Amino acid sequence: MTVTTPEAALEQAALAGIHRLAIPTPFAVGRVNCYLLEDEPLTLVDTGPNSGKALDELQGKLAERGHSIDDLELVIVTHQHIDHIGLVEIIVEHSGAEVAAIGAAAQVLANFNEDAEAQDRFAVDLMLRSGIPEEVTAALQSVSRSFRSWGSRVQVTRPLDDGEEIPFQDRTLRAMHRPGHSPSDTVFWDEERRILIAADHLIAHISSNPLITRPLDGSDERTQALVAYIESLRKTREMPAEFVLSGHGEPIVDHVALIDDRLAKHERRKEKIFKLIAERPRSGYEIAQAIWGNVAVTQAFLTLSEVIGHADLLVNEGRVREVVDGEVIRYEAAG
Ligand SMILES: [Zn+2]
Repeated sequence: MTVTTPEAALEQAALAGIHRLAIPTPFAVGRVNCYLLEDEPLTLVDTGPNSGKALDELQGKLAERGHSIDDLELVIVTHQHIDHIGLVEIIVEHSGAEVAAIGAAAQVLANFNEDAEAQDRFAVDLMLRSGIPEEVTAALQSVSRSFRSWGSRVQVTRPLDDGEEIPFQDRTLRAMHRPGHSPSDTVFWDEERRILIAADHLIAHISSNPLITRPLDGSDERTQALVAYIESLRKTREMPAEFVLSGHGEPIVDHVALIDDRLAKHERRKEKIFKLIAERPRSGYEIAQAIWGNVAVTQAFLTLSEVIGHADLLVNEGRVREVVDGEVIRYEAAG
């Protein structure tokens, strides 16, 4: 049977015991999709942010299906972002559930507060070196601090290897590491039913920002988030998924078309950035301003991540090089 609409995908998922629970967040992205797997063990994929409102709604939605938080036996964490992990600790306190996540992220998840601090320092340093004014970085840092209470530390009790299978009574899910949107992004594949739980790796209505993030090994070496993301998208493109369940919004019934669309968009943006660099050397901030105007100020880190991601592609192609100009890194056309 071929699923052709998001509604049909949700119905198919429900028949397979996978129920979408859309939990409110205080963030611009809106609700986050958690998925209840009615199987043994009884499992929740992602939890929503750490807030009373999110907890109330989660409890209400579990109760509609005859469960409570105490009944959960396994929590699967798809990635390190706070809208997905915030309630893990509270759920574990109530239920004693096991917590599964990609093993490489266990350290970062366990040291949530320290890691968030380190990520903020890393981001400020990168923004300053990209020519973003100090007052803008300071404002963003205080926003980031105010968001932190919606997160929580997560003690991973079942660290997963890339490719490892999680056995349930009625299904098997294979964990597949797909870094890019965050370094810990992991998708979960039900090969028998051809259902992919992909969280924020692929979202129908918004493109997943390849946010520049400290690597999971705790070093301060910047990784190439967009390069990694494109590689991850190409792997997902090859999967014979019937549909994809996302971390926000509706299921995706044609992931190949969506991924092709995203890849084409990145290609166009890359060429646009190359044109700006070919005109004259520019810092990341100057490029972001040329493309996004004032949004480059209010969403400085997001837009900078976009610019640096595409500039990395150009650097790897040998068309652009980074030149250190005093405190600031500029990009210039090579050759
Ligand atoms: Zn999310």
